[in-house]
Amino acid sequence: MMIFLGVISLSAIILDGNQIGAEIRQKVKRDIQDLKEKYVMTPGLAVIIVGENPASKVYVGRKHKACEETGVHSEVITLPEQTEQIQLLEIIEKLNNDIHINGILVQLPLPAHINTEVILESIRPDKDVDGFNPVNAGRLFIGQEGLVPCTPYGIIKMLEMSGIPIAGKRAVIIGRSNIVGKPMAMLLLARDATVVICHSKTKDLPSITKEADILIVALGKASFVTSDMVKKGAVVIDVGINRLPSGKLVGDVNYEEVKEVASFITPVPGGVGPLTISMLLYNTVQATKMQHSASW
Ligand code: NDP
Repeated sequence: MMIFLGVISLSAIILDGNQIGAEIRQKVKRDIQDLKEKYVMTPGLAVIIVGENPASKVYVGRKHKACEETGVHSEVITLPEQTEQIQLLEIIEKLNNDIHINGILVQLPLPAHINTEVILESIRPDKDVDGFNPVNAGRLFIGQEGLVPCTPYGIIKMLEMSGIPIAGKRAVIIGRSNIVGKPMAMLLLARDATVVICHSKTKDLPSITKEADILIVALGKASFVTSDMVKKGAVVIDVGINRLPSGKLVGDVNYEEVKEVASFITPVPGGVGPLTISMLLYNTVQATKMQHSASW
């Protein structure tokens, strides 16, 4: 007897950032317990927020809550909008020398009168848990151990923990920012992917994205990537967070369309977002260990 099954079209497997983020936090919790028992150490994180940006306040609140839940000592330093750059530098210098603080994060964006590059450079590289200091960016570039930006590092953890191979794969990244696109490229390259970085001047973007086995999308444009830009069976990671006029949160990928073509996909919300804070906690523990190791 012959059975005709026809064409079976399966939707992509959804990569659950909440679940993977929770697994990372469990590991962080165990590491913190270990540090407390063996070395009587509690990792400490200081988060500085300048001004009244409502989204920044929400992010800082989430980071503080995550610290409390995981056992990281957390200090939030709230400064008024008109804070002078020199005052901020003085506060960072104090934290650089504070033995109870192992990680320092300055919430971005900063008010326009403050030079973000100067501020990021002033954070001690071994306390730079965002990984934005040029020393850490340089270390990532030349393949040395350092603190790695949380969002791209979280994506690597997600791929690895989901058993998605990276070596030998063609990875395409849309976006070349210092916080997502560029570090993402370095992390994938270090894991032996063949990497292409696209940006706003890239010509014929779909012809490039269609070649990707792993497509990382971080450009900040709602539902920009459509199914005709994606190779069948590709792994699609959506970094974008865009709020529509209706208030709905969507990514840079047209999720409904692309999930019918991809083999794995991250949703928004609930994909990459939850990993970023988990990796901040992870980096705070890493920083604590580095500060007590001879290699730094
Ligand atoms: P940036 O605005 O700094 O960078 C955007 C990049 O996208 C730039 O390199 C830009 O190119 C490129 N780009 C813009 N338009 C196009 C286009 N039409 N075609 C190809 N490339 C284009 O953004 P971020 O990297 O900071 O963030 C990207 C998105 O990720 C945002 O939605 C942000 O909210 C989100 N995000 C999410 C995080 C999370 O935790 N989930 C964390 C960080 C960011 P060019 O350089 O030529 O201008």
